[in-house]
Amino acid sequence: MSGRLFDRVALIGIGLIGSSLARVLRRDSPGTTIVACARRAETLATVRRLAIADETTQDPAAAVAGADLVVVATPLSAYSEIGRCIAPALREGAIVTDVGSVKGAAIEALAPTLPDRVQFVPGHPVAGTEHSGPDAGFADLFHDRWCILTPLPDTAPEAVAKIAALWEMAGMRIATMAAEHHDKVLAVTSHLPHLIAYTIVGTATELGQDLQSEVVAYSAGGFRDFTRIAASDPVMWRDIFLANREAVLELLQRFSEDLTALQRAIRRGDADTLHDWFARTRAIRRSIIEAKQA
Ligand code: NAP
Repeated sequence: MSGRLFDRVALIGIGLIGSSLARVLRRDSPGTTIVACARRAETLATVRRLAIADETTQDPAAAVAGADLVVVATPLSAYSEIGRCIAPALREGAIVTDVGSVKGAAIEALAPTLPDRVQFVPGHPVAGTEHSGPDAGFADLFHDRWCILTPLPDTAPEAVAKIAALWEMAGMRIATMAAEHHDKVLAVTSHLPHLIAYTIVGTATELGQDLQSEVVAYSAGGFRDFTRIAASDPVMWRDIFLANREAVLELLQRFSEDLTALQRAIRRGDADTLHDWFARTRAIRRSIIEAKQA
């Protein structure tokens, strides 16, 4: 047995997240064979140009054959089809993990397709950018960020420990929680902010021609940050909102109530309410900076 965590890793999906992990394996796990799988030949040609994998294939079943680790890193809507396709080819004792942003839906789609001879460790490296594809990846993407693992009751602790060690190798801090809890937390920290950004940028594009050009010119006033978030991959985000529908809708209800409260404060000239609210949110920013997550 080698001292390596994994000898043969199959990355199903080699976009921002998959290719960043491939770069980490290249850097920190010499001798590990990396197999990259994507749908399109162009994507795999890019992977070969970047030299971040040893083998490339468009066939997920061929990719996982002989692998001791399989990482599913595609949009969530592809999960169940991928699960069905790879299941017969998975080797005895292999670990299957994923990086999907909604854990309840990831488990629902993948777990029923996987055979008993493998271990499934659902995971979510909470790190990303608004860019997609293998060119966008970089090894430091995960540095100092959190990776949340949501193992199932019957997942072997040794498999969870190995996936934790993989993400620690990438520089991540590890948290373990129930999938349902993960989805509620991420609805607040990630999904709602994206929805708000998509809304604001969408509203601005509906404005008249004159106003629109000024929005672009003076975007540094706050709008620019929203445009960065709203430039995130449309397929990935479509899937996230559909997969985490319940948690997002519940949160949106509370958000609308708070928005109405602020609307009322502005209309009534209620300076104290506005000031107290903004002072509270400023303190949250400080605590994020102190936690080195800014
Ligand atoms: P990405 O850059 O768009 O890459 C997606 C990859 O999946 C591509 O290689 C694509 O291949 C492949 N793919 C798509 N559909 C497929 C299918 N049906 N069969 C096989 N391969 C398929 O996406 P990403 O940003 O890395 O996100 C991947 C996953 O990570 C998502 O589930 C997302 O929720 C999660 N995640 C994303 C972020 C983030 O900020 N981006 C952060 C944490 C977690 P082709 O190029 O050939 O189409």
